[in-house]
Amino acid sequence: MVKMIVGVEYHFNASHALEILKEPLHGHTYEVRVEVRGELGEGNMIVDFLILDKIIRPLIEKLDHSHLNNLLKCSNPTAEYVAKWLADEISKGLRERDLRVELHSIYVREGKEGWAKIEF
Ligand SMILES: [Zn+2]
Repeated sequence: MVKMIVGVEYHFNASHALEILKEPLHGHTYEVRVEVRGELGEGNMIVDFLILDKIIRPLIEKLDHSHLNNLLKCSNPTAEYVAKWLADEISKGLRERDLRVELHSIYVREGKEGWAKIEF
């Protein structure tokens, strides 16, 4: 069986303030890329993009136009923290749907400055 990675990409806008850096309230356009890996199966796919979208889009909609400190109940909602939150929520969604794929990576870019990435 051939192991493969597929990915999906999203954008959202949100505000945050970082207590640890004494950064006051400001906003970013975030870019999110989620990669999953699995074996090439029936229909020459490892997972239907539409099924991934059903798991991920509601999370992105939650984040969009939110104040991350309030939504995530966190005083330092960094790109790393958003990536970790997404990882936990998406893992839950993959398990609930019993999909034969696992998370490969989550990438969260915060504006033009920088990004965080988790690899599994
Ligand atoms: Zn910021």
